[in-house]
Amino acid sequence: MTRTHAILCAIGTTLALFILPSCEVSDARADETVKQTPSDSKSQQDTKEMTTKSTLPSKRTYSKSGFDITPLSKTEIAELAKKLSPEAFRVTQNSGTEPAFCGNLVDNKKQGEYCCVVCGLPLFSSDSKFNSGTGWPSFFSPVDPAHVSEKVDGAHGMERTEINCARCTSHLGHVFEDGPAPTGLRYCLNSAALVFVEKGTKMPATSEPIKSETAYFAGGCFWGVEHIFQEAPGVITAESGYMQGTKENPTYEQVCGGETGHAESVKVVFDPTVISFRQLAEGFFLMHDPTQVNRQGPDSGSQYRSGIYCSTPEQLAQAKDLVAKLTSEKKFSRPIATQVELAKKFCPAEEYHQDYVDKTGRVCHVGNPWPQVLGAAK
Ligand SMILES: [Zn+2]
Repeated sequence: MTRTHAILCAIGTTLALFILPSCEVSDARADETVKQTPSDSKSQQDTKEMTTKSTLPSKRTYSKSGFDITPLSKTEIAELAKKLSPEAFRVTQNSGTEPAFCGNLVDNKKQGEYCCVVCGLPLFSSDSKFNSGTGWPSFFSPVDPAHVSEKVDGAHGMERTEINCARCTSHLGHVFEDGPAPTGLRYCLNSAALVFVEKGTKMPATSEPIKSETAYFAGGCFWGVEHIFQEAPGVITAESGYMQGTKENPTYEQVCGGETGHAESVKVVFDPTVISFRQLAEGFFLMHDPTQVNRQGPDSGSQYRSGIYCSTPEQLAQAKDLVAKLTSEKKFSRPIATQVELAKKFCPAEEYHQDYVDKTGRVCHVGNPWPQVLGAAK
């Protein structure tokens, strides 16, 4: 069981015609001290730019809680702002402040979510609301840190930290460092910037998270596979882990020992309105060599086998159909060895394996398949 190479791209002659330009092998795990030279970085960057420009749909930004927080354009914001009351417009669009004790949400003690009055993004929850005595609705944390952006406000002769909706930039209020535990922060809001949605009532569509789907892919060392999936437009999260084995919550060492039957896998949560399961699977076949059995290049062992682990029968049918299509079109010079089966339990890998390529700064040498997959009209 050797792990000589972290990110592999073993492309046969036939496959090279099908997909990517030739790519090199990155020896990240074998030699932890390898440093890239500036020229390496430059050429990798050039390659990356070449492959990520052009026909890709613009990349969306998602929060960890599953919301699309891609910044809205000025035109979109202006359109949304037309519905606002004069007071809500003054506060959110012109950085206004409502008088203390005058907002309708100061004393609201009901359970529920406080959403942006302009774009609907959930910003605060009754779970973090407290009575600050200031006369403005106060919270010790947002529902998701990515939903509220901050910037320095030097108006009125003092320096304060202004808070804004991360999606539509609406002015919300300010944050101060005199709040209660556990954060010690006081998010001071204008009621006019918020819409309260009581628990048990239906959230507006704009306040709902993305209706995401999940799929799992094993393509050798999960570091590089995870990174490439994270690059795909429409992918909300990609997480490294172990699947299809017999032991509950195995460690990396146990998986590498080859006794547990797990495959190094990547859990991909995606927005199906931007990228489909079929497109993810097409990209998967471009990013590794699916004809290798229990290995990817010099990484050998059953944990490096190729696999698509499906979360629904529909995914299973699509994956099988894609394998049959690639086989009939003779896209590979050898038989496809990819396991296609329903997903068993996904066991997340240890934290140091997550975002490994980002953490180490190593650039993946594997070509990015997404322009090819998403560029072609389907
Ligand atoms: Zn907003």
